[in-house]
Amino acid sequence: FSRQKRTPGYEVFQPLMHSKTIERLNIERDLIHALRNEELRVYYQPIITLKNLQIVGFEALVRWQHPTRGLVSPCQFIPIAERTELIVDIGEWVMKTACQQMKNWSLQFPDRSLKISVNISLKQLKDPDLMAKIDRILVGTGWDSHKLQLEITESMLMDDVDDLLKIFAQLATRKIQLSIDDFGTGYSSLSYLHQFPVKYLKVDRSFIKNIYTHSESKKITELIVMLAHNLDMEVIAEGVETTQQIECLRPFNCEYVQGYLFSAPVPVEAATKLISEI
Ligand code: C2E
Ligand code: MG
Ligand code: MG
Ligand code: MG
Repeated sequence: FSRQKRTPGYEVFQPLMHSKTIERLNIERDLIHALRNEELRVYYQPIITLKNLQIVGFEALVRWQHPTRGLVSPCQFIPIAERTELIVDIGEWVMKTACQQMKNWSLQFPDRSLKISVNISLKQLKDPDLMAKIDRILVGTGWDSHKLQLEITESMLMDDVDDLLKIFAQLATRKIQLSIDDFGTGYSSLSYLHQFPVKYLKVDRSFIKNIYTHSESKKITELIVMLAHNLDMEVIAEGVETTQQIECLRPFNCEYVQGYLFSAPVPVEAATKLISEI
């Protein structure tokens, strides 16, 4: 985690460290060993077509089976991992594990064609070894690159445009597709959006949450879907929990939905069941 710059020779002494700081340090200390101790897990949440409710793929979402804390949510440790270099190794492990699992499912269910979507942090995207790591994972697992999607957040697009375009071009040669996650909540310049080779826009769940009850949320969602379609992107609605929300989305011709209504993110065994049931 980042330290404040201090005058050399002086030590800022705080008699009581804020308990949140201590908590963060504890998590960071444990996280260093989590990978080696095989404490991380990948959960899978189905992504479904709105039209006929078919599973087209999964989003890989990491969890941490902590020895004393139990199952820890990524919200509690990903931001900490992102302040250190840990996110780079964790992200690589998630991608490898997910691609390996997808390969296994493709052998088990040869008539199904499913894609995997993996969340990726800015530090990973800017890692000079990213392409080498991706290639190693694809070769090692035998998973097809065109069935791998990377989810980036809107605010990541505010980074150096030329840098990003180079990275995105390298992904494009591998036919790896990009999604923008949590769209509508981050800081992004709409005028930037069209220059990036983005295939999917994921409407943030805060809009979907109120889509049936608040006409503003519905109007904003409609606007996002129209924007995406105008830019030749497809739309995934995140956090769909009710059939009313589904019916609100239908007239917008939103392509995909994802949410608890269909399934929460689940471990391998439960996800296998989902695939076999459809
Ligand atoms: P995200 O990528 O936007 O993932 C969607 C989050 O919404 C997930 O939370 C998912 O469990 C939750 N969700 C899905 N459907 C519903 C619903 O119907 N209702 C509600 N209330 N929630 C729903 P989760 O798994 O706790 O992950 C939180 C965030 O942590 C993710 O947000 C993503 O930003 C980050 N994250 C998770 N795994 C990874 C990873 O492997 N790498 C990186 N860099 N970030 C990750
Ligand atoms: Mg995501
Ligand atoms: Mg999201
Ligand atoms: Mg989110």
